[in-house]
Amino acid sequence: MSIGTNWAGNLRYGAATIARPRSREELSGVLATAGPLRPLGSRHSFNDIADTTGTLIDLSAMPAEVERTAPDAVRVSGGMRYGELGVDLQRRGLALANFASLPHISVAGAVSTGTHGSGDGIGSLATAVRAVTLAGPDGERTLHRGDADFAGAVVSLGALGVMVEVELDVEPAYDVAQTVHEGPAWDALLAEFDRATALGTSVSIFSRWTDRDRADQLWVKNRVGGPALDAELLARLGTTPATVQRHPILGAPAEACTPQLGEPGPWHERLPHFRLAFTPSAGEELQSEYLVPRRDAARAIEAIRALADRIAPLLLVNEIRTVAADDLWLSPSYGEAAVGLHFTWRRDQPAVEALLPAIEAVLPDTARPHWGKLSTLEPAEVHRRLPRWADFAALEARMDPAGRFRNAYLERLGL
Ligand SMILES: Cc1cc2nc3c(=O)[nH]c(=O)nc-3n(C[C@H](O)[C@H](O)[C@H](O)COP(=O)(O)OP(=O)(O)OC[C@H]3O[C@@H](n4cnc5c(N)ncnc54)[C@H](O)[C@@H]3O)c2cc1C
Repeated sequence: MSIGTNWAGNLRYGAATIARPRSREELSGVLATAGPLRPLGSRHSFNDIADTTGTLIDLSAMPAEVERTAPDAVRVSGGMRYGELGVDLQRRGLALANFASLPHISVAGAVSTGTHGSGDGIGSLATAVRAVTLAGPDGERTLHRGDADFAGAVVSLGALGVMVEVELDVEPAYDVAQTVHEGPAWDALLAEFDRATALGTSVSIFSRWTDRDRADQLWVKNRVGGPALDAELLARLGTTPATVQRHPILGAPAEACTPQLGEPGPWHERLPHFRLAFTPSAGEELQSEYLVPRRDAARAIEAIRALADRIAPLLLVNEIRTVAADDLWLSPSYGEAAVGLHFTWRRDQPAVEALLPAIEAVLPDTARPHWGKLSTLEPAEVHRRLPRWADFAALEARMDPAGRFRNAYLERLGL
């Protein structure tokens, strides 16, 4: 039986079989079967993190449930997609603080890899998790924020069991207005980096690196009622306001993108760049991303800028975002606020993998890779850059002593 491919089409899953349990009871039956197991989300990762030689467990047929557990918390099914969750929360007058660039990804899959959006004051999606329920061959276990192992169990790469539900922080629903500013000058952006990323609740810098002097676009998503846009800074950066709807890849058709031009709308229809009903991003693409501590951001961007001639021919677009610090052991923003340097590549994997070592060599040695994207960093280097790696390895050995959830990706990492 063919299980098919990941979203990008660059990975054909090697699993022997796929299970689609429709209830917790059916799931426990799957977990009781012999052989390696691996939870699968909405297949949006670009590497083999979600693959196995045994049974893939896809939760998309489980009921998508949202339950209010406190004035500021909801419990949601792990297999639910963020886009559906956003619609449900908005109906209840509730909201999340953050969103990734696309609403198509599953909650458990996104949380497990440290997926993030942008915002100086907002953490990755995993930071909204206040409790997580993991199911394994020996039953279910719920860990709450503050419990000893909790900080290791949220961004956990699918290694600790099947995340059947998570409890998330929510707040009253709010509106966001999104504006695009074209052509910011790199020298001014780097000189004013802290002010530029504070222009709104959520800011992204897009560049195809065809021009070393100017980035393509600055996207600003601002909560309605918050401080007005800093016009003086936008002028100093040399931007001009976009007068038409834009795609992150300048010039690409923009109908897949959430409304811009300052039109206010609910948070879940503005924080993601892409709309649920459309193909996000470019479709035919690969992605890599490295998160550097904020103090190293200017150095990292200058290093990329110096490689522009080698990067641009393979690149669809580079996006720079900010993520607040957290205490989740495997989070790329563990311990320090981070800046994400994300690359959307043309779908030429050999060429991308040949270029990545050159990028990794010039980035500061504090750069941590995104778990769900392509990287060629040596495992020992990844461990060194994550101070809690050994704690996570010990937790994994305790929670999955038989290694039922291990796969080739985790073994390469040294688990
Ligand atoms: C077009 C596009 C845009 C993207 N934009 C962003 C972005 O803005 N920010 C960002 O940070 N990343 C982004 N990504 C990367 C993406 O968010 C991550 O790869 C994410 O992990 C995908 O979630 P998924 O549901 O597809 O999980 P999968 O790719 O299916 O799985 C990822 C991992 O989660 C585990 N997992 C899945 N479900 C469960 C479960 N129920 N229990 C336990 N573990 C589970 C899997 O075992 C695997 O280890 C983007 C990807 C694409 C394709």
